[in-house]
Amino acid sequence: MSELVVVRDLKKYFKVRGSFSKTVKAVDGVSFEIREGETLGLVGESGCGKSTLGRVVIRLLEPTGGKVFFKGQDVAALKGEKLKQFRRQAQIVFQDPNTSLNPRMTILEILSEPLYEHNIPVDDPEDFITKQLESVGLGREHLYRYPHELSGGQKQRVAILRALLLNPSFVVLDEPTSSLDVSVQAQILNMLKDFQAQRKLSYLFISHDIGVVKYMSQRIAVMYLGKIVELGPSDAVFENPLHPYTKFLLSAVPVPDPKYARARKRLAIPGEPPSPINVPPGCRFHPRCPYATEKCRTGEPPVVEAEPGHFVACWLYSKG
Ligand code: SF4
Ligand code: MG
Repeated sequence: MSELVVVRDLKKYFKVRGSFSKTVKAVDGVSFEIREGETLGLVGESGCGKSTLGRVVIRLLEPTGGKVFFKGQDVAALKGEKLKQFRRQAQIVFQDPNTSLNPRMTILEILSEPLYEHNIPVDDPEDFITKQLESVGLGREHLYRYPHELSGGQKQRVAILRALLLNPSFVVLDEPTSSLDVSVQAQILNMLKDFQAQRKLSYLFISHDIGVVKYMSQRIAVMYLGKIVELGPSDAVFENPLHPYTKFLLSAVPVPDPKYARARKRLAIPGEPPSPINVPPGCRFHPRCPYATEKCRTGEPPVVEAEPGHFVACWLYSKG
C-alpha cells in the first residue's frame, strides 16, 4: 500500500484572544502517514487537538509549521487549479450536521452545490441526486426537504454524501457519529466502511471513543495535548497498549466477555487534561501518569519503534 497522505512535524498554534503572550499549541509536532485505502483512527480526549489536526491536514487551516504531502505534493504550495483538485480529492465530514448543513437550503440544493462549484456537468440534477441519495439509504422524497425535516441520522447521511459526491480519495471523518443514537451509529459506520471498500477511500477517522476507532481503523494514533503519544496497528494498540495514557483510554472501554472483565479493570484517568495553554514540561502526561519519574518531568520522551510498526513516546520504552 502506498502512502496517500504524509504529515511531517505539523504544528498549529493559536494566539489566545485578549492576550499578547499566550499561545495554544493545539497541534505540536505531529507526524504520520495514511495509506491508500486505509483508515487511520485518531483518538484522544476532547480538546487534545484532533479536530484542529484534521482541519490542518486538508488545509481548512494553515499550519504554523511542518508539512502535509498529498500524493507526494506539498499541500501548502498548491494554487489555482491544483488547489481546486486537492479540494475535490480531500473532503471532511463534521460531527454535527445541524451546523454543517445550511438550514435554508433543500437537500437538492445542498447536494448540487459541490457540482456547481467544481463545474461538473449533470444532465438531470434531480435524477442524479436521487440516485446518489439512494446510495445512502434516502430517496427522491427527500429532495425538497430541508435539514430540519430529517432525523439526525438522515442529516448525517446527507453530509457524508456531500463529501463523497465528488469522488474524493481522502476523507477526514471528525466524530461523524458522536451526535447520533447508538443504533444509528452502527448503521452509519457500516455505510462508511462499505463506501471505503467500494471506492478504495482513505479515511482519517477522529473520535474520542477508542472502541469505535478500533472498529473502523487498521491503525490507531493516540493523541494527547497536541502530540501523538502512540501509533500502531489497531490490534497491537488494543492488545498490547504501550503508553500509560492509551492504557487508561482502553480501561474505560466496556469488555463484552466476562472472562476478560477482571483482567481489564476500569482505571479512571486521574486529573483533568491540563490546559493546552500551559503545557507541562517534559512528558506532557506526567502530572497524570502513575509511572512518572524525575526524567519525565524535565525531558520530552522521543518517539521509539517498540515493535515493528508500533511507535510510542514514553521514557519507559527508551533506552538511555
Ligand atoms: Fe508516564 Fe514518563 Fe511515560 Fe510520560 S514518559 S507517559 S510520565 S512514564
Ligand atoms: Mg473535536
